[in-house]
Amino acid sequence: MQATDEMEQALDKDRKYLWHNILPYREDHRPMVGVRGEGSWITDLEGNKYLDGMSGMWCVNVGYGRTELAQAAYDQLAALPYFPLTQSHLPAIQLAEKLNEWLEGDYVIFFSNSGSEANEVAFKIVRQYQQQIGQHYRHKFIARYRGYHGSSLGALSATGQAQRKFKYEPLAGGFLHVSPPDSYRRPAGLTLEQFSEQCAQAVEDMIIWEGAETVAAVIMEPVITGGGLLVPEASYVQKVRDICTRHGVLLIMDEVICGFGRSGRKFGHQNFGIRPDVITMAKGLTSGYLPLSATAVRKEIYEAFKDSELHGHLRHVNTFGGNPAACALALRNLEIMEREQLVERSQLLGERLHQRLTALHDHPLVGDIRCFGFMLGIELVADKQTKEPVPLSVITGIIAECKQRGLIIGKNGDTVAGFNNVLTLAPPLSSTDEDVEFIIQTLLQVMSISRLDGLVGEAT
Ligand code: PLP
Repeated sequence: MQATDEMEQALDKDRKYLWHNILPYREDHRPMVGVRGEGSWITDLEGNKYLDGMSGMWCVNVGYGRTELAQAAYDQLAALPYFPLTQSHLPAIQLAEKLNEWLEGDYVIFFSNSGSEANEVAFKIVRQYQQQIGQHYRHKFIARYRGYHGSSLGALSATGQAQRKFKYEPLAGGFLHVSPPDSYRRPAGLTLEQFSEQCAQAVEDMIIWEGAETVAAVIMEPVITGGGLLVPEASYVQKVRDICTRHGVLLIMDEVICGFGRSGRKFGHQNFGIRPDVITMAKGLTSGYLPLSATAVRKEIYEAFKDSELHGHLRHVNTFGGNPAACALALRNLEIMEREQLVERSQLLGERLHQRLTALHDHPLVGDIRCFGFMLGIELVADKQTKEPVPLSVITGIIAECKQRGLIIGKNGDTVAGFNNVLTLAPPLSSTDEDVEFIIQTLLQVMSISRLDGLVGEAT
């Protein structure tokens, strides 16, 4: 069969049977049908090759085509494909130990399947912990606008992206939001330090205004990733940590994207020298090869659940969480990262990307370029003075031009009306020097196309 026939047939059935993540319906939608991956590159059903500059959904950290990961899963599936974690199995035990080592701390691990679930577990543990220690009114969570914490109703309630919640509300109660440390859009006249201080103070003000004795935890990503790559000053994160401690509020770090080397450290929060109380992780834990997530909880929080009273233990169960094959694969995934020093490589490649793309600062549409580990965000504006965001058509136009040239890049999507104007990059940490050069050259070429300016004119 001709490749094109196969493609048309696949698309026909795709339209009939498959409901895609988040995309608006379009009769003429032609999704890429991926069939193979090798390193940072994926091949589609028509034989086209693309460099995956987004590692799928920010997750394929060690790159595609790692047969040793497939083998690790295969071996475990053949030996014992399933065993519930009401009991135990060796891959879960070994992985929990390994995660603890990566976290440099004294954490106990609860396994689930997705980032959303890991956050749900965090919310339940935190609420119950506060009850266990006699803090009966502490039930509220403070999150930031523009942050993303998942698609299930609790995690969506914590999410600070209005467009993702619209028509699904009312959501779970007790989730509050403060402004994020968006330093590019800080009020004129404020230094970065003053602005960071102000944003951290907003967290403390909310705790005080709500009544500290009603606040259970603050949840935050180390940097806001999918919401537009908003990188805070270290002092902001440190101040929020101090504020939480001072008010008896726990700090949950959502490391679903930032974890596993993406930030240039093993975990994003390690860049800021702080210790969270609860850490949630998914994506890079298995490099996306199988579903697995984890909620890591400080030992002393776990200790509060050693209670013989009827409802004193955590009553959360997850059939598939901590599947033996997923755990075995995750262990091998971490071994690869250590063996190939991918955490260090992430830092190196991120710096290179950032440095080589600084030339784009002079581009009329580029308002800001932000980098954290091997992630890059380019915020596009129609006017550098007013910082008015470019219309979405410019962003989608650039993404399409990059794809035309074999490079997949992303954007912040469905965040806040009018502010879906940040191009994003998060390539596999295993990317070669040539891969990175390809990304740089392609982006520079695409951004130099003069008709991009025209796109702004057309849309406004
Ligand atoms: N937290 C963050 C920071 C994320 O980026 C995501 C997903 O993109 C999630 C949580 C939810 O993870 P999942 O899609 O695996 O449920």
